[in-house]
Amino acid sequence: MKKNNVIRNTNKPIQKTRLTIQSLFALLSVWIGVEFYFFITYLETGGKSFFMNRPPGVDGYLPISSLMSFRYTVATGDIHWAHPAGIFILLAIIFVSLVFGKSFCSWLCPAGLLSESLGDLGEKLFKRKIKMPKFLDYPLRSLKYLMLAFFAYVIFFAMDIVSLKMFLDSPYNQVADIKMYYFFAKISRFSLIVTVVLALLSVLFRNFWCRYLCPYGAFLSFFTFLSPYKIKRNIPSCIDCDKCNKVCPSFINVAKAKYVISDECNSCLNCVDACPVKETLEFKSVITKKTLKPKTVAIGIVVIFMAVTGLGMLTGNWQNRMEITDYMIHMKNIESSTYSHPTGTEHLEEINKETSEININKERTKQ
Ligand code: SF4
Ligand code: SF4
Repeated sequence: MKKNNVIRNTNKPIQKTRLTIQSLFALLSVWIGVEFYFFITYLETGGKSFFMNRPPGVDGYLPISSLMSFRYTVATGDIHWAHPAGIFILLAIIFVSLVFGKSFCSWLCPAGLLSESLGDLGEKLFKRKIKMPKFLDYPLRSLKYLMLAFFAYVIFFAMDIVSLKMFLDSPYNQVADIKMYYFFAKISRFSLIVTVVLALLSVLFRNFWCRYLCPYGAFLSFFTFLSPYKIKRNIPSCIDCDKCNKVCPSFINVAKAKYVISDECNSCLNCVDACPVKETLEFKSVITKKTLKPKTVAIGIVVIFMAVTGLGMLTGNWQNRMEITDYMIHMKNIESSTYSHPTGTEHLEEINKETSEININKERTKQ
């Protein structure tokens, strides 16, 4: 280990700030959940309980619908009316990732915070980081890309714009947020078992869900490669202490890299904080060669996210265009087959027919 003439890293660690930002976003998600609960209870009781507006932020939990809307917007120039906030949340996450790499996962995502907390618990219990054997790690890591490839194929290749619009207009998509709520509120035994198993696996293997199964993370990995900012190791000043490797939640061999170019790097900056030597690990642009201070990264992530979602609000593309009467009609039929996931043209035609019937009923209700 080289130790001569070491200048100590005196930078303030950024991990507390990261945890604060993660926690605030998690609290925001909880608040969205509370608002949505009251909104659904109001619908369930036919308007006889306390009313809260549907929080548009709930669209952020519909990534497939948002990706479809995104493609629809690119193809037609129109923002679909059903879940407009979802497109802006998706764009905000893409822009954050384009600038700072897969930072959404480690700075903003509530599932990321939960996954990290379970991993911390596991490290406390087992007194070490348990690493998946390599022969399992590589094939398991490909699972999230396979799922992403499936969704990408369906959304970008298998569906033309007409069928995409039919899906977006369908009753299923209109109430996809409510269906998602019921998935968790009335969770089936099988889903509960899967959730518990995933949680236990996340205690055993840090970031199990994120590393192996999350298609959203897989999607953002592509933007990580496009981002100019990478972790850079200054080889001459590195003392080979291996501290960066020990703290990296993604098991990246930072101590041997010149630049960290990895789909698993989530820009958490744990390695930068842990490095004991000044200016040895930095978050640096491969284009301008400028270093970003960790504090700037933190502010940048929040500002970009807020700016893009704020644009959705300012341009009137945040609230969807469904009225409470629309929701009331949907709620009456929510258990019917119309609200099953449409899987083909046959179903889409059926759903279209039923949508027309609902619209006719709506007109009658208005009269
Ligand atoms: S390389 Fe550094 S920034 Fe990337 S995941 Fe590992 S610790 Fe975090
Ligand atoms: S933490 Fe990593 S980059 Fe920093 S001195 Fe030690 S081995 Fe080198």
